[in-house]
Amino acid sequence: MKYISTRGKDTVGVSAAEAIKRGLAGDGGLYMPESIPTLTEEEIKALIPLSYPERAAEILSLFLTDYTKDELLSDARAAYSEEKFIPTAAPVSKLGKNRYMLELWHGPTSAFKDMALQIMPRLFVRALKKCGEGREALILVATSGDTGKAALEGYRDVDGTKIKVFYPINGVSSVQKRQMQSQEGANVSVVGIVGNFDDAQTGVKNIFSDSEFAHELDKNGVFLSSANSINWGRLVPQIVYYVSAYCDLCKCGDISYGQRLDVCVPTGNFGNIFAGYIAKLMGLPIGKLVCASNKNNVLTDFLKTGRYNRQREFFATMSPSMDILISSNLERLLYVALGHQKCAEYMGKLQADGEYTLKPDELKIINESFVGYFTDEAECMRTVKKTYESSHHLIDTHTAVALSAADRYISEYNVEGAVLTVSTASPYKFAADVFASLTGTKPECDLDAPDMLEGLTGVTMPSPLSRILKMAPIHTDVIEKGDMKKETYSFAVKK
Ligand SMILES: *Cc1c(COP(=O)(O)O)cnc(C)c1O
Repeated sequence: MKYISTRGKDTVGVSAAEAIKRGLAGDGGLYMPESIPTLTEEEIKALIPLSYPERAAEILSLFLTDYTKDELLSDARAAYSEEKFIPTAAPVSKLGKNRYMLELWHGPTSAFKDMALQIMPRLFVRALKKCGEGREALILVATSGDTGKAALEGYRDVDGTKIKVFYPINGVSSVQKRQMQSQEGANVSVVGIVGNFDDAQTGVKNIFSDSEFAHELDKNGVFLSSANSINWGRLVPQIVYYVSAYCDLCKCGDISYGQRLDVCVPTGNFGNIFAGYIAKLMGLPIGKLVCASNKNNVLTDFLKTGRYNRQREFFATMSPSMDILISSNLERLLYVALGHQKCAEYMGKLQADGEYTLKPDELKIINESFVGYFTDEAECMRTVKKTYESSHHLIDTHTAVALSAADRYISEYNVEGAVLTVSTASPYKFAADVFASLTGTKPECDLDAPDMLEGLTGVTMPSPLSRILKMAPIHTDVIEKGDMKKETYSFAVKK
């Protein structure tokens, strides 16, 4: 299986290992497999009795054809072990009749990013070997909070790599900030920037596209790679949990094979929901993909009107991992739905004009699979409270945005079949807002909120989080966004 760029100017395909090593294609596009492999009914049914790591190895092997099954199984077993994911990797819970939740936050950093970032560093290290790469890799990450911590935890002390994370100093929750600032590991660096997530992401993208800078690093035996969801190595492990959830629902007899399952995903950079779309293209009986946004509703507008306009006010919300105006992986959807040429044209327009508008027939193709809703702050808080009171599920603010979208989708389309909502973070990661949603009062100090929430609800806090709250911050530097390149260079050449 070869990988090609969404923009079609890199005409020669590369291996999966090469795509994972590079992160971004040479023409600025994102890597995609040349074709999407399919899963037959028999193949999916054969996954039902398997464990999560076994399911993962089967699905990854369809995409990562230059990795052996043994390599993939051994990496999946190490990544999704019972010590790392407590009690298990991607359990499905029942919310009510035909309503399910896929819980992706049982890993070491309590957000769904662990699902990819526990296995990706393993795939990455193998990729370096397979490509005969002798230089050191500097993983450069822009984060709205959850990716940063998950990437730090995944790459810390991994041989042949260093990791540097930039986060918006006022754009992440206090718990997220403490998680990153207290990161241990000899090869890690964490720096706050004055700006929002898009500033951090743009800064990182600019560093990646600077060939002179790459040359300077090369002279020092270093090259750059990404752990953001623009990297195929991030995306491909996310396909697994959609297939796994379907298998689990079949296994419990909640659905019978072939029955349609709609999924609703709290969305920011469009990576998670896009992985669900690939699962659908592979043949998994997924119906609609409901794209849930917060007040930064650029995707809701896009899915309704075909116009993507990033020139709009940016809101810092209580679901900060979705506070995004430029949704990078939407590029992959444009490519799959409309082809290279259209994708390159619209991405060019987005860069030059800050917006683009699809033709009605193009939007129609996308709307066959996707529908979008957004949830404002008050509704988000009501949903946290309502869900806790009605079903005793304590959910975080991102999950609440999605559950509220799922409700509206179900009533607007009179949906009677099964709907799976993806739950992306532990409520304890956003404890202050969850506590405020339940009680009407915000804790005076955000970092006290997890204990207060535990006291209020009796729901146990994930153990890695309670440990981190007791640790002191180590990485407290804050810089201007214009200094990101300089800062990256000095870390890259530091021995
Ligand atoms: C990253 C994140 C999202 C958004 O996922 P994308 O793949 O960027 O769309 C949603 N919720 C949480 C908790 C996240 O960490």
